[in-house]
Amino acid sequence: MEKTFAIIKPDAVERNLAGKILARIEEEGFKIIGIKKIFLSKNEAEGFYHVHAERPFFPDLVAYMTSGPVISLVLERENAIKKWRDLMGATNPEEAAEGTIRKLYGTNIEKNATHGSDAPETAKFEISYFFNALEIHP
Ligand code: ATP
Ligand code: MG
Repeated sequence: MEKTFAIIKPDAVERNLAGKILARIEEEGFKIIGIKKIFLSKNEAEGFYHVHAERPFFPDLVAYMTSGPVISLVLERENAIKKWRDLMGATNPEEAAEGTIRKLYGTNIEKNATHGSDAPETAKFEISYFFNALEIHP
């Protein structure tokens, strides 16, 4: 079993899409082993997205991710990291495959409804950035 980290981003929470997204996550065979609603500070969002600090879209990305509460998740299943990336679809909703979460619920390349870890090392960093061991229940 593998763990990954996911976020339901502010645009999706704001539009009351969390329930639909959580239902889909469970239907696709993931177990939600950690879940909490949080409101990121600027510092916290910058730390989470530190790998993108030099990208031109970074200030906008931080502003967006701190524009409202998010739902942070630890998901578990076989091959969870890749399976969750596949279920989300491409970063840009316009390029995402039919039926993926970003295709269904994303607004644009920035406001794309969900986040997912992209590798085992980032999953480990991101889970520990948001959750302590007492908040995760396999
Ligand atoms: P995430 O890390 O959120 O799961 P991703 O791995 O598909 O998304 P990244 O390249 O890591 O994509 O970009 C992180 C986030 O930054 C994207 O999800 C999106 O919200 C935003 N972003 C990425 N590229 C752009 C861009 N060209 N313009 C505006 N925002 C962008
Ligand atoms: Mg990424």
